[in-house]
Amino acid sequence: MIHGGAGALEDLKNEASEAEFRQSITAILEQGRQRLEKGDHALDVVEYCVTLLEDDRLYNAGRGSVLNAEGKVEMDAALMNGSDLRAGAVACVKQIKNPIALARHVLEQGDHVMLVGDGALEFAQFCQMEIYPDHYFITEARIKQLAEAQAAGRITLDHERIKPSQKLGTVGAVARDIQGNLAAATSTGGLVNKRWGRVGDTPVVGAGVFADNETCAVSATGYGEQFLRTVLAKTISDFVQFRGMDAEAAAKAGIEYLVAKVNGEGGVIVIDGAGRCAAAQSTSGLIRGWIEMGGETYCTLG
Ligand code: ASP
Repeated sequence: MIHGGAGALEDLKNEASEAEFRQSITAILEQGRQRLEKGDHALDVVEYCVTLLEDDRLYNAGRGSVLNAEGKVEMDAALMNGSDLRAGAVACVKQIKNPIALARHVLEQGDHVMLVGDGALEFAQFCQMEIYPDHYFITEARIKQLAEAQAAGRITLDHERIKPSQKLGTVGAVARDIQGNLAAATSTGGLVNKRWGRVGDTPVVGAGVFADNETCAVSATGYGEQFLRTVLAKTISDFVQFRGMDAEAAAKAGIEYLVAKVNGEGGVIVIDGAGRCAAAQSTSGLIRGWIEMGGETYCTLG
């Protein structure tokens, strides 16, 4: 399963670009399916799918990330392996083409779970990752979006409607491989017009990302502060573990909890240990798609 962010997408449905999103989502799902069919590990596949989403400037992650209040890109990403709860995360990183790949290096290196800012950049150089110039990440659409958010005096979700032209989003993937391993990955440029140094839910294990083979894998999108305060990804896993819910019931209960506790806005994709897929959201839109147990490709923006 993959997602391309939550928000207000009503206008998108009437635009030609709906086709672009559908094409992007279904093509990336197909590549993920092929790798899982070959027997690749869930962790490799979620990393791969998120890398493809980061490279696509349609989404708020990697190239095309939203801009902070200083007009800069600061990205967060994390991934988690469900068989042993290993996790890797990076926050407030710049100049890294694929933050999710850097998070994977953190996971593999194993001493730490999260690296931030300059320390993360230095670690990327140590891992011989290529450093990209700032202008690689910044698109015209993002400069315009920031100007609109600043004129309105607001800090917004990427997909939030100040003007209907804003329709790009945070990304995530969850997978179950043929050995039954679960994994989750999430990557974002964060909120439009955020304070520099702000870190959201995306790189925080248990908030924007979580995977445990005994329960489920979760990737979240929405107002990060609300997902941090409700520890939403782990809460959904707890619903599976302690209340015996499947993916669908847990996703729904998770979003109900988010709304009841903090009036939260966002969405989640969830896959459980049996390979059942589900999504839920409190926003009007959540770009997402999945292939359940090797079956049909499903994609929706609503
Ligand atoms: N959750 C992300 C954050 O708060 C934003 C998003 O999902 O669009 O950084």
